[in-house]
Amino acid sequence: MPDRPLELPPRPPVPPALIGRIRQVVGDRGCLTEPQAIAPHMKDWRGLFVGRAPVVVKPASTAECAEVVRLCAEARVPMVPQGGNSSMAAGATPFEDGAEVVISTARMNRIRAVDPANMSLTAEAGCIVKAVQDAAEQAGCLFPLSFGGDGTAVVGGVLSTNAGGNNTLRYGNARDLVLGLEVVLPDGQVWDGLRSLRKDNTGYCLRHLFMGAEGTLGIITAAVLKLAPRPRDVQVAFCAVPDVAAALRLLTLLQGRDGPSISAFEYMARFGLSLVLKHVPGTTDPLAGPHEHYVLIELSSPRPDAHLKESLEAALAEAVEQGLVADAVIAASDAQRAALWKLREEMSDAQKPEGGSIKNDISVPVSAVPAFMAEASAAVTAALPGIRPCPFGHVGDGNIHFNLTQPEGMARDAYMAEWDRMVDLVNAIVRRHGGSFSAEHGIGRLKAHTLAEWREGPEIALMRRIKAAIDPAGLMNQGKVLPPG
Ligand SMILES: Cc1cc2nc3c(=O)[nH]c(=O)nc-3n(C[C@H](O)[C@H](O)[C@H](O)COP(=O)(O)OP(=O)(O)OC[C@H]3O[C@@H](n4cnc5c(N)ncnc54)[C@H](O)[C@@H]3O)c2cc1C
Repeated sequence: MPDRPLELPPRPPVPPALIGRIRQVVGDRGCLTEPQAIAPHMKDWRGLFVGRAPVVVKPASTAECAEVVRLCAEARVPMVPQGGNSSMAAGATPFEDGAEVVISTARMNRIRAVDPANMSLTAEAGCIVKAVQDAAEQAGCLFPLSFGGDGTAVVGGVLSTNAGGNNTLRYGNARDLVLGLEVVLPDGQVWDGLRSLRKDNTGYCLRHLFMGAEGTLGIITAAVLKLAPRPRDVQVAFCAVPDVAAALRLLTLLQGRDGPSISAFEYMARFGLSLVLKHVPGTTDPLAGPHEHYVLIELSSPRPDAHLKESLEAALAEAVEQGLVADAVIAASDAQRAALWKLREEMSDAQKPEGGSIKNDISVPVSAVPAFMAEASAAVTAALPGIRPCPFGHVGDGNIHFNLTQPEGMARDAYMAEWDRMVDLVNAIVRRHGGSFSAEHGIGRLKAHTLAEWREGPEIALMRRIKAAIDPAGLMNQGKVLPPG
């Protein structure tokens, strides 16, 4: 387990009178105090931290949310915004001292408007991402944010972590998909920035402050999201490649032939695939024999006559000739396409039955991925023989989830005690390649120390000044992103 303690100042318990006043605003349904009801909100998705809070508040509207925040601010009680609680960095989990009020957006889950002519959709913060995808599809459009947890994560959560996912290569990160925001500020005021404009150069772009802020600057209550044309021709290939460098040369080849059609380019190693095949029922190896490295390619176009299958076949034939692809299959139906994607999307869950997993969500310049992978694998293997690297991820963005599965036969606790040592080893290599220690999962509680180590001088000072300007009492998600001090 990560064991660098965060030293928050001692905090008083939440006054029971405040809980009573909150209940008057949100009613019994929106004010959970029963241990059983609040338990799921106290633990982070990875099971690294179990926090404590006397109350989980679920406002049903922006007005209720604003009033709850105003009451907490008046009582100087810290707040933890929570969406789907699937943060990979324990950003939505309260600390253990029971001094915080958790504010969940679960009941603020309406799609307020869909505007196909403007290619935009207005959703409340608690809308599950999958529901937004479905609503966009019904309107003949695409909401392109897509990742393994999109059936759990909600709009406010993905914007607050600036999630990336499978289609970043084509459509950008979550922040690139937002036109406007509505936010409850830390004193309870509502900023109505729900503009759906494509062009609006009117001063500082405030919405970008709240995206990626992980709930430290306010509570996002609604967003105007950008839609894209719905793809009508989608082709998916699963390819074995001789090594990581070949994977990137394959990407360059595809970009040269038809770059704008590439909507995903994902990497996985044999070890990860073998875990999916072993632990996830209904999965099969799509290729005849085992290979050490794979990529999943998706091409898509809104044109029904884009002939992407022929284009992909021709590209892969050229890649085979050049020795960049050892074997490949192109999905021949929607079911096959889903089956290939399942191999990639189950990669996170498939690691769990193998015991402890130390997580690194890193990015380096795309060209540096092969060197990073080789150096990081060598470093962790030398430091802990038997460790099983399980790298996978969005290689087209230079983003690798360099996860490390425990050696067979080692006790889980003993392995997890190695967390900081292994992460430090990997991060040192990331730093040498000019990369980031957190590509898309954010900082949360898990990496607050690391942010302070990596971002020095004016950069961290500026972040602290922004925090102080927007949340002068420091009540929003204390100890997350910016460590105390
Ligand atoms: C199986 C799986 C696969 C994943 N794959 C990817 C991937 O490929 N790419 C990727 O980028 N991520 C991935 N993730 C992580 C994902 O990005 C996050 O889980 C998600 O963005 C968090 O959304 P959430 O609604 O669960 O937010 P939470 O976990 O509830 O909160 C996340 C952070 O945002 C804050 N927050 C939540 N709601 C609000 C709000 N309304 N206003 C202000 N702050 C708020 C919280 O305080 C916390 O700091 C994956 C997760 C899972 C479970």
